Amino acid sequence: MDRRLLATLFAAAAACAPSALAESPTAAALEAIRPQALRAHVAFLADDLLEGRGTATRGHEIAARYVAAQFEALGLEPAGTGGTWFQRVPLRRAEIVKEGSALTLTVGGRLRELVPGRDFVSLPDARREQTEVAAAVVYAGFGISAPELRHDDYAGADVHGKVVALLLGAPASFPDDQRAYYSSRQLKAETAAARGAVGLVFVLSPPEEKLFPFARIADSLQAGSMYWLDEHGNPDGLPASLRGRAVLSGEGAQALFAGSPGALDEAFKNAAAGKAGPLALRAEARLQTASRHTTVESPNVLAVLRGSDPVLGKEYVVLSAHLDHLGIGPAKDGDAIYNGAYDNASGTAGILEIARALAALPHRPRRSILFAAVTAEEKGLLGAEYFTRYPTVPIENIVADLNMDMFLTLFPVKDVVAFGGEHSSLGSVVKEAADRLGLEVSPDPFPEEAVFIRADHYAFVKKGIPAVTLSCGLQSADPKMDGSALFRGWLANVYHSPKDDMAQPMDFESAAKIARLYFLMADEIADAARRPTWNPGDIFGARFAR
Ligand SMILES: [Zn+2]
Repeated sequence: MDRRLLATLFAAAAACAPSALAESPTAAALEAIRPQALRAHVAFLADDLLEGRGTATRGHEIAARYVAAQFEALGLEPAGTGGTWFQRVPLRRAEIVKEGSALTLTVGGRLRELVPGRDFVSLPDARREQTEVAAAVVYAGFGISAPELRHDDYAGADVHGKVVALLLGAPASFPDDQRAYYSSRQLKAETAAARGAVGLVFVLSPPEEKLFPFARIADSLQAGSMYWLDEHGNPDGLPASLRGRAVLSGEGAQALFAGSPGALDEAFKNAAAGKAGPLALRAEARLQTASRHTTVESPNVLAVLRGSDPVLGKEYVVLSAHLDHLGIGPAKDGDAIYNGAYDNASGTAGILEIARALAALPHRPRRSILFAAVTAEEKGLLGAEYFTRYPTVPIENIVADLNMDMFLTLFPVKDVVAFGGEHSSLGSVVKEAADRLGLEVSPDPFPEEAVFIRADHYAFVKKGIPAVTLSCGLQSADPKMDGSALFRGWLANVYHSPKDDMAQPMDFESAAKIARLYFLMADEIADAARRPTWNPGDIFGARFAR
């Protein structure tokens, strides 16, 4: 524990009076995180004038300038490239050209052209504008090879030169975060490519279809997909050997399995039971994909509060939050601006006010603190991934990432959830800070949503850096408000819609509480003698730690 905090707690215990707590520097800093200030940042960032802060839009650029101006006003140092506040992330947008894209099946000698939008949607190719592949199809369950869980969907299968058909998701029997890890579409593509597959079609199982309806997947692909480009201009995370990828609807899957009666139901039954195993289908698939490419760029905004210790000051605690949102999209009730007030103007406001509180401490923490307002999270954590691939400080000196994504304070919060907390010593840091603020720490209420791999902290996890994203739990401190119902209602009706704006209920007292929680954690980690560690035997520590 940090010595100042320890002294504070002793003082508080001795005096048994709130005034003792209020006089300590950390307590004063906690008070300096004000609900009104958070509200002001959110109101600016979520204003219609910023047009939803879409990646590589003018609105996002203005938001980035705003954040940089705040950092500068606080007296932080720029930590972007070339002494600037910005790290420009090169990106490629790939969109499907409908006219040149098709999926044709040959089942039992009969040719069948599937209907785009109804039977399937093609996934764009960010490497080639024109690509084509034709091969026999092998169904390989979830496409997961997890020796530590004794699960191998490829056992006994030869998929070399084949198109693989895979289910989205992962067995419900897997522990939550491993389920999240193995459900990554990118990992599935890499696993298939490593076994020699040349194409990939995804099949939606009934539980996945419920979570991510085919129509919603098709909708989300309308805007195209984005990839960050490496120093050679190649898109990251897309195996070159896969020459066609698509997602099938229920009808599409029926057509694919038509030559093997009963096999699709059997496959779903096995998937529900978590059973692995491949199946050769009597089908051949031809995928033709035409993609349109556009190259753009978008900034991460980076700043440092220099640590006070000559040695530990060379290490960094990262506080991150994505600044981008969805921009302008399909209109709903006459509104086409996806303001992203909660997602994630709230988290950005959080890092700004935490930066203010940390910068105002009379004794700076020993380690440096790097603030990162990253871009293109909504495009697949691209800004955070790019930063961890091309870090502007030595990556081995980053000791932790505390990520803020949606301070969803629809009601007075009573508890928080720490995604990733159970894998490292950060779990106990969260617990201590939460105790101090009278908040409870609850388990993940929606493990099937795989939040662990869907927030920016995961880019740091993949580089072996302990990391967490906190979210409010489902408990309301106001007995008249049903936290769980409000949370679920918001996810169903407001999340990723133009309604995530300033007209909705936002409890900024609670938002300040969560910001204070992050402040205490950052201060504790930055001042501790030892850097955070992965828990002994932790699966993610073992997989990714340096
Ligand atoms: Zn989002």
